[in-house]
Amino acid sequence: MKVGFIGLGNMGLPMAEKLYSEGHIVTGFDLRKIVKSRFPILREIKEVVVNKDVIITMLPSGSEVVDVHKKIIPECSKSTVIVDCSTVDIKSADFVASLAKASNFLSLDAPVSGGVIGAKKGELTFMVGGDKEGFDIIKPLFDLMGKKTVYCGSSGSGQAAKICNNMILGISMIGVCEAFALADKIGLDRQKMFEVSSNSSGQCWSLNTYCPATGVGPEAPSDNNYLPGFASELMVKDLMLAQAAAHQENVHTPLGKHASTIYQHFLENGGLGKDFSAILPFLKEKNRS
Ligand code: NAD
Repeated sequence: MKVGFIGLGNMGLPMAEKLYSEGHIVTGFDLRKIVKSRFPILREIKEVVVNKDVIITMLPSGSEVVDVHKKIIPECSKSTVIVDCSTVDIKSADFVASLAKASNFLSLDAPVSGGVIGAKKGELTFMVGGDKEGFDIIKPLFDLMGKKTVYCGSSGSGQAAKICNNMILGISMIGVCEAFALADKIGLDRQKMFEVSSNSSGQCWSLNTYCPATGVGPEAPSDNNYLPGFASELMVKDLMLAQAAAHQENVHTPLGKHASTIYQHFLENGGLGKDFSAILPFLKEKNRS
């Protein structure tokens, strides 16, 4: 397929590289001037869009997605399918879906889980909402970039799945970090703590795959000076999106609410630009209050 890929950051670049390495014709665009890729990067966003089978966007948040989609939709060729893989609020997802629909394009919201490691390995999970016909066309691309693809329903339902999943992630990462902080203080070796919990009922993605303790478990941002990975500001964004939805629908989510407060506090106190697993040294520094 001819693929136009917009937003070549931590996630977008390895996803686009994966499609390129599997034989698709990829051209890319990013606001950043210097992006090292094996496929061509074009200077004008409009050049990336024309004559493509699919346009994929992978951008920081809803406002960039709305801006970019407003720019590209008038330039897209007739049968292009428009796919947004960013994590955004349901309102923005619905808005860009309605823009596409008004111009007779098939469109999908297809946020991902699995992080940069999953993107590099082609092992993401895609949760997809939008036109089923568009989903059937694009599914082979999702299958190259990911290990699991779930069609969740009408537009916005991919984003709904994503914010629920990431509420679990934020809560579970804090839980794992609290356990390591406690283990350190009560004299339990971190390696032993990992060996036990990653094989016991404490196992979860935050521990088994993305261990926040340096030098423990598979390689993760904790082994790379807590460089993202999945930046703390993106975790705050996702927890806020979940809280906004919970507030709107009057759903009781006390731990989700608390996790969003803890992560916001972390962000304001040195967490900006660090991976979300860097909440471990942050929590460790604190005394019980
Ligand atoms: P990132 O900040 O590394 O990448 C975003 C890229 O978009 C940057 O290169 C930026 O220059 C570019 N960009 C911003 N505005 C643009 C515009 N108007 N036109 C063109 N390019 C523009 O972020 P990321 O970590 O790659 O995350 C992207 C999305 O994926 C976010 O919505 C995030 O929530 C989601 N996500 C990230 C992870 C992760 O582990 N990093 C995991 C799952 C989902």
